[in-house]
Amino acid sequence: MYQAVIGMELHAQLLTQSKMFCGCSADYWEAPPNSHVCPVCLAMPGVLPVINASAVEQTVRAGLALNCQIAPFSRFARKNYHYPDLPKGYQISQYELPLCHDGWLLIEGDDGQPKRIGIRRAHLEEDTGKSIHVVPLGPVSDRANRRTDGATLIDLNRAGLPLLEIVTEADMQSGEEAYRYLVKLRTILRTLGVNSGDMEKGAMRCEVNLSLRTAQQAAAGQYGVKVEVKNLNSFKAVRDSIAFEIQRQTAVLDGGRAVRQVTMGWDENRRCTVVQRSKESSEDYRYFPEPDLPPLELSRAWVEQVRAALPELPDARAARFVRDLELTPRDAALLTVERAVADWFEEAAAAYGGAAKEVANWMTGQLFALLKSEEGNIASLPLQPAALAELIRLVDAGLINRNTGKKVLEQMVATGQPPAAIVEAQGLAQLSDESGLAQVIDALLAANPGEVAKYRAGKTSLLGWFMGQVMKETRGQANPDLARALVLERLER
Ligand SMILES: [Zn+2]
Repeated sequence: MYQAVIGMELHAQLLTQSKMFCGCSADYWEAPPNSHVCPVCLAMPGVLPVINASAVEQTVRAGLALNCQIAPFSRFARKNYHYPDLPKGYQISQYELPLCHDGWLLIEGDDGQPKRIGIRRAHLEEDTGKSIHVVPLGPVSDRANRRTDGATLIDLNRAGLPLLEIVTEADMQSGEEAYRYLVKLRTILRTLGVNSGDMEKGAMRCEVNLSLRTAQQAAAGQYGVKVEVKNLNSFKAVRDSIAFEIQRQTAVLDGGRAVRQVTMGWDENRRCTVVQRSKESSEDYRYFPEPDLPPLELSRAWVEQVRAALPELPDARAARFVRDLELTPRDAALLTVERAVADWFEEAAAAYGGAAKEVANWMTGQLFALLKSEEGNIASLPLQPAALAELIRLVDAGLINRNTGKKVLEQMVATGQPPAAIVEAQGLAQLSDESGLAQVIDALLAANPGEVAKYRAGKTSLLGWFMGQVMKETRGQANPDLARALVLERLER
């Protein structure tokens, strides 16, 4: 058995109006290639960058929400490397003096206990452009195709967009913990309004680093060989690639071989990692302080002003659900994993008006099962919060029993119809009619004299069997309280 040691780097696009160091619009998605560019982000000679104040504020907000120290003095640095999508030949980033450092975020650990994931640093940098590799689409006789077939085109609309890079300590030990970290981080960033969370649009991109070590190595504070995993296009890909890498490296070590220091890429189709490149030595980016930008100096007073204006964050919201709405800590945690879910819950609880705990039970039980998880996209359901509240009121009023309510909810989710209409159309209202139910029960007891005699001789546990028969006869629609009372009344006669 080995212990996995996992850290993560995440790049999140900030939701600013303009790019990091120029006035180009940051709303570049689906814009024609190279339409959101200017001399600064095209890296023309002689231009000067200007710091986007909103990006700095969003980074500080994120840093505070992640319990980081905010550096009163930080600066930008040049990270030098050559790539076609980086026209300057360097990326403006932060290096030895990041804006935010030494924070933490709380997740549920694999042991079910709260676990702190350390945030080593959170800093600002600029995004690169995009390379588009053209694959042959039409006949080569077509002039336009001849010009671009097999070529790589560059779109610089994304170049210079503000990116928040968040680097964790190597505090995670499984794909599940990494997954929960990402979900929590995305909820925090969305709650702050600093990132859209759209992984498919590249608004969040992450890389994993992972190593395995033995118990002896762990005791001695030593680490195994670190492997990087890239090409992770979803949180699921992060979770699955980590599980795969743990298996792969375990097999390598068990076979008496050494893990190579490489960069792996996740192959979504084959569901495995493949070597992208070997990493014999670490790259030298020749970082040096950016001479064209002044250092960032933030006053304590301003940072405190930003802190005071932070919205309610997921942990605080969960605590409020426990304190004010009397939810269990478990339900409160589940309902605050996603902001959209928490909003939906609060709306349903308000519409219901009764004990919010009842709404929480329906959501964490039935609704999450229908969504397949608490991270399912609740906003995409045709179900409105007020409709769930109405369903619970039908159960409270005794018109349908709880089990029928579960079936009705399934149909509400599938069709978007209101609960009362479903109950009416399918005749699901429970049998609360005493004389009708009494007839069913009388017939049942008459047909089973042996069981009745056993009950009367002291085998009272048979009550459950009788109730089961009543439910069977009435296709589950008997009002259980009334049915139990009628059965008992007859048996104890
Ligand atoms: Zn520009």
